[in-house]
Amino acid sequence: MTNILKRIGTWIFLGPVLNEPFNIDNILKVVFVNIIAILGTFFLVLFFTPLFLQGVYPILYPVAAYILAFIFVAIFIAIHTNKGIEHFNVVKTIVVISITLFYGFIYAKVIYGDIWSFLFPIAVIFLMNIFWGSIFCVCYFLIMLSVEFVFKIHSWDLFYRYVCIFWSQVILVSSYEALRMWYNKRMQIDREKIEMLSITDHLTKLYNRRHFSNIIDKEFARAIRQKECLSFLMIDADEFKNYNDTYGHLNGDELLVSLAEIFKGIVRRSEDLVFRMGGEEFGVLLPNTDFKGAFSIAEKIREEVQNGTKVTVSVGLACVYPKFGENSDELLKRADSNLYKAKDMGRNKVVG
Ligand code: GH3
Ligand code: MG
Ligand code: MG
Repeated sequence: MTNILKRIGTWIFLGPVLNEPFNIDNILKVVFVNIIAILGTFFLVLFFTPLFLQGVYPILYPVAAYILAFIFVAIFIAIHTNKGIEHFNVVKTIVVISITLFYGFIYAKVIYGDIWSFLFPIAVIFLMNIFWGSIFCVCYFLIMLSVEFVFKIHSWDLFYRYVCIFWSQVILVSSYEALRMWYNKRMQIDREKIEMLSITDHLTKLYNRRHFSNIIDKEFARAIRQKECLSFLMIDADEFKNYNDTYGHLNGDELLVSLAEIFKGIVRRSEDLVFRMGGEEFGVLLPNTDFKGAFSIAEKIREEVQNGTKVTVSVGLACVYPKFGENSDELLKRADSNLYKAKDMGRNKVVG
């Protein structure tokens, strides 16, 4: 039972926003617009109908209220048929323009209509942003001012106090919103940093094995979809244990960094990715690269390492045209077995 209620509640307030990429700001705004739409519709119909029937207000007031209620219902439907999410900027602008006009309208004549004005800055600054929200607040203030001039609703003393509260509220809500945006931005930056750290090797700053596992299936699927070949180089430093023993582990670390720099210098296309697979073993993924292209890159890497450092590398190359039903393990296995062959053939070799 509670489960059903939860699902109904989620559908009513969140609409289809849960299927969108997670963005807390959008979610809050969608929930807020839904609350305005639902409560607004009920309130407008329940409040204005009896007043209309009692003849308290001229017909224009309930008609305006019904038009606004109709706009709210349309917005609720638009959000829940997903169009609202795609065009949410338009939706929230319509809400804000409608309530600006309507608040201005009820301010003029409806008893206690002015009280509703205090909800105005909160709604528009949150829904739009500080800049556009403040512009709408200025517009609304000008409407209030004109109405005061024409209808003389309040004494100027009362209006002055009213204006002070209104603008204090604008400043308060803007400050809160600025703080919230700043905090969101910081959170976003921290999240991106953590994400980056989790997929980066701290020594060489190349992508790590975890990122390779994350990405290889996607690249494989893309190659199947686009009927392209996918090449992978498995690179292993030769006799690296000896190097460590001769020059020390710290120099070994420095050499791994130099190798990473050499690989990055040669593999320059933005789709190509270089990984540190572990220890002194590296991987280079070359989407949409045929055997010939991949082989020449591997040879270039082998040569440049031989000429530029005190070690050499062996490279195992695999190039496949992936087909539906196959999986990426095969690519890795083939590169690995070719790497063993290169080692067996005396190292400092490319085998494909
Ligand atoms: P082979 O040509 O057969 O690949 O010989 P190898 O010595 O390179 O291979 P082996 O697997 O026997 O040894 C790998 C060495 O790589 C052992 C380890 O000390 C070194 N190594 C692995 N990770 C690091 C690292 O992060 N820093 C340093 N300095 N050395 C590392
Ligand atoms: Mg090695
Ligand atoms: Mg190794």
